[in-house]
Amino acid sequence: MCLQVSIEFSASSESDVEKLARAVKAEFAVEFALESLQKSRRVAKVFVTAKGSGCGCSFLESTAMPHDDLWHFRPEAARAVADAVEQVGKRKQGEITFQAIWLGPDREDLEVRRVGLGELAKLIRSCEISQSVRYLAASVPD
Ligand SMILES: [Zn+2]
Repeated sequence: MCLQVSIEFSASSESDVEKLARAVKAEFAVEFALESLQKSRRVAKVFVTAKGSGCGCSFLESTAMPHDDLWHFRPEAARAVADAVEQVGKRKQGEITFQAIWLGPDREDLEVRRVGLGELAKLIRSCEISQSVRYLAASVPD
């Protein structure tokens, strides 16, 4: 079992996602791994992982537990993930979604919550991300 942090955003091709992943990787201590690309809906989903790690577990404090209501991210990880999410929102049209869930046998259904992009980044930075919520943020392209 594992912490899986993901972002969905509009994209029409793999190279589109690649370009964004490279830009984010150059700036922040996170990597994007393409999970799926639905060309008909023009939606890409990427896993956000710590550099050199295959998952999001190392974003967490060592005291974090899988059943925590809110994720206790390490401060530098929280900043990096929040900055990366904000970048995606600023670069992409439409809405982005963000979720941080624990992969396990009894996952609950996610509640959808609409937030502003700045508000979402703030929730991540202040470790107020719930594992049972899927955050939908309207993006603000430059
Ligand atoms: Zn893991």
